[in-house]
Amino acid sequence: MTERIDCAVIGAGVVGLAVARELALAGREVLVLESESGIGEHTSSRNSEVIHAGIYYPKGSLKARLCVAGKHLLYDYCRDHGVPHANCGKIIVASRAEEVDAVRSYIPTAAAAGVHDLREMDVAEVRELEPEVVAVAAVMSPSTGIVDSHALMLSYLGDAENAGAMAVFRSPVRRGEVTDDGILLDVGGDEPMQILCNTVVNSAGLFAPQVARSIAGVPESTIPGQYYAKAHYFTLSGKPPFSRLIYPVGHGSWLGVHVTIDLGGQVRFGPDIEWVDSVDYSFDLAREPLFCEAIRRYYPNLKDGALQPGYTGIRPKISAKGETPADFRIDGPEAHGIRGLVNLFGIESPGLTASLAIAQEVRQRLEA
Ligand SMILES: Cc1cc2nc3c(=O)[nH]c(=O)nc-3n(C[C@H](O)[C@H](O)[C@H](O)COP(=O)(O)OP(=O)(O)OC[C@H]3O[C@@H](n4cnc5c(N)ncnc54)[C@H](O)[C@@H]3O)c2cc1C
Repeated sequence: MTERIDCAVIGAGVVGLAVARELALAGREVLVLESESGIGEHTSSRNSEVIHAGIYYPKGSLKARLCVAGKHLLYDYCRDHGVPHANCGKIIVASRAEEVDAVRSYIPTAAAAGVHDLREMDVAEVRELEPEVVAVAAVMSPSTGIVDSHALMLSYLGDAENAGAMAVFRSPVRRGEVTDDGILLDVGGDEPMQILCNTVVNSAGLFAPQVARSIAGVPESTIPGQYYAKAHYFTLSGKPPFSRLIYPVGHGSWLGVHVTIDLGGQVRFGPDIEWVDSVDYSFDLAREPLFCEAIRRYYPNLKDGALQPGYTGIRPKISAKGETPADFRIDGPEAHGIRGLVNLFGIESPGLTASLAIAQEVRQRLEA
C-alpha cells in the first residue's frame, strides 16, 4: 500500500530534526524517516559540540552566513528551551613565532564574515586566564561556546512532535522515484512501506549523496561525490586544566587538535584527520603519540599516559582530499529542477551551530 504524506525528512540527526521542527512549526505534515534505532547515531553525536563563532569560513559562503546566523539563533534557542550550553569563549594560540601572523589574521577574516568581537590578547593575559597554556600570541573569540548536542536534538524532536510531526526509526529509505504526483520513497525495515511525498528533504548526512543517487529522476550531474574524513578524540583524565576552549592555528580547512570541554567538565582533545573509504568508527590507539606531540605545543604539562581513548566521528565530505573544501550545499529545485526536493550535501562543521539557520534556509527554498 502507498501512503500519502506532505513532507518526509530523511535522517534524524541534528539537521534533519531542525528541519522537521521548522516545517512542522510552519504547519506542514512531517514524517522523519531514520534508518537507525534512535536520533543522532552518526555525526550529530560524534563531534566537538562547539557553538562556533564563524571565524574560518570564506566570505560569502553558506558556511559563513549560516554559522553566524545559526550561532545567534542557537544561543537564543538554548536559553529559551533550557538546553544545556555555555558561552565559555575560546582562545586561539600561536605557539611558535611562525604562527603569529596566522593567528592575527583570524581577526580580519572573522570580521569579513560578520564576526566583529575577536581581539588580540597579550601573553600575560593568556597566562592569567589559562595558566597551563603556552603561547607566543593569541586571539580571543568571546562568542564561541559549547552545547549538549543530544539535549538539543531531543528538544528539536519534542518541538516537532508537539507541532504534529512523527519520527519513525529502523526505517531506511532504500530508493525513490520522481513521479508527476510527487516523490515516491521505498522504505525498508520491519514494516516496509511506500510513501508518496509532496516534499522530501534529504538530510542523510554521510549518506546524502547515496540517497540522492537512489532516487530515480534526480540528475546525476547534480549529485556530488561522497568522501569520508575520520576524526579521533582523546579525553583527559582528572581535573580540567583549562576553563575555555583552546585552539591551535589551523591548517587549511582543518582546525587542528584542539581542546574542548563538555558541559560535565570533561576535557577532550581532537579531532585529527584521516581520509577513509567507509563509515567505520573503530578507534586507532596508535594515534596517541601524534596527539601528545600536537597538544604539548600549547600544553607542555600533558603527562605521559594522561590521554584516554574517547570516540571517533566522520566528516561528511563532498570534496576529495587535496581539493578546495566545498561549501554546504542546500540544493532546492533551482539546483536540480525537481519540485519539492531539497538535498543537503556536505553538512560538516559548523552544521551543529548552523542547524536552525539551515532549517530556515530549507523552508525558504521550498517556499520559493
Ligand atoms: C569530527 C567532527 C566534529 C564536528 N564538530 C562540530 C562542532 O564542534 N560544531 C559544529 O557546529 N559542528 C560540528 N561538526 C558538524 C556537525 O556534527 C554536523 O554538521 C551535523 O551533526 C550534521 O547533522 P546531520 O543531521 O546532517 O547528519 P547526521 O547526524 O549524520 O544525521 C544523518 C542521519 O541520516 C540517517 N540516514 C542516513 N541514510 C539514511 C537512509 N537511507 N534512510 C533513513 N535515514 C538515513 C543516519 O542514520 C543519520 O541518523 C562536526 C563534525 C565532525 C565529523
